[in-house]
Amino acid sequence: MSPHDRHGLGLRPIINVSGTMTSLGASIMVPEAIAAMAAIAPQFVEMADLHSRASAAIAQATGAEAGFVTASAAAGIVIAVAATMTGLSSPAVEALPTRVTGLKSEVIVQGGHDVHYGNSITQAVRIAGGTPVLCGSATEVSLSQIRGAINENTAAGIFVVAHTTARTGMCDLPAFSALCHAHGIPVIVDAASEYDLRRFLAQGADLVIYSGHKFLGGPTSGIIAGRLDLIEACRMQNNGLGRPMKVGKESIAGLIAALEAWSRRDHAAIRLREREALNLWQESLAGALAIETEIVADPTGNPLERLEIRVPGESQTTALALVQALAAGDPPIMVRGHRTEEGVFWLDPCNLHPGDAKVVAKALRNLASDLQ
Ligand SMILES: *Cc1c(COP(=O)(O)O)cnc(C)c1O
Repeated sequence: MSPHDRHGLGLRPIINVSGTMTSLGASIMVPEAIAAMAAIAPQFVEMADLHSRASAAIAQATGAEAGFVTASAAAGIVIAVAATMTGLSSPAVEALPTRVTGLKSEVIVQGGHDVHYGNSITQAVRIAGGTPVLCGSATEVSLSQIRGAINENTAAGIFVVAHTTARTGMCDLPAFSALCHAHGIPVIVDAASEYDLRRFLAQGADLVIYSGHKFLGGPTSGIIAGRLDLIEACRMQNNGLGRPMKVGKESIAGLIAALEAWSRRDHAAIRLREREALNLWQESLAGALAIETEIVADPTGNPLERLEIRVPGESQTTALALVQALAAGDPPIMVRGHRTEEGVFWLDPCNLHPGDAKVVAKALRNLASDLQ
């Protein structure tokens, strides 16, 4: 039976060469996480104890003082913002998103960091009851513009690490953190798709957020790692606006298992397998004169490469047409196609089932023969 057709829901099987796209189910969950979820599903647990166990696993994996599991990274960002606003004040937790008198509520965001992952960073701040303060422009932000935006009402600064942020012109995390800390303001880092579980804390993050269902191969969930007092404030949001975003026992158990599996994963072997797929795909397209291919590094520095396929303007076809042709195939092949208007798309090998690479190669050979 196809590894894509085992859910019994009659949904069409697809091959995912787009990466960890939440719209396609994010990632292949690791067997350890699946087993842990099945094991805890019929059991009762004291949730506070399970959260403590998860905090220890997150601390171990990230080097942070403590951690908190959320329903998703998107929920984690909202809860982290709320935590920087309320601190350990129960009345403030219960009042949000309405603000009690004296609550700091402004959250600094660099102009090129207001990315959209289903909702925008600025909407995440507003869901928590905060007021986003965008600094500089979408392409250029100076430290003095950030300094000018900080006042006695500033609750936090958010820094986003994503392929969708402005690639140049933003202040880097060490400088952003140093400036915020000089004014006593905590720094929240959205690192939802980043593999490096330690770097952002080392560069000054007070709270860093990761997605549980992307590179980690865990269940739908999020991780907040960071300072003990702020993590406690995050936990308190479960009695406030965090409640509708509550995470279940199965997700926490699955995430703990995914973190442990991550620490044991043979990353080198996986990269080798991914490189083989990329080489195979590049060879499959070698005869197509109308396009250029190149194996490229991940733009945010994740240890991951992709095959970039460029369709020059003078070509008979377009990037969009090729993306659509692959998606219309049997099985449909979903690529990383968010920049087709620039004449480019990518094939991402991080979520392949056994046999997928060859199916994709065959589809690419067919494309290539149409492009002679
Ligand atoms: C995926 C992503 C999110 C949202 O992650 P979820 O866990 O799916 O909620 C937030 N920020 C960035 C930068 C992302 O890449």
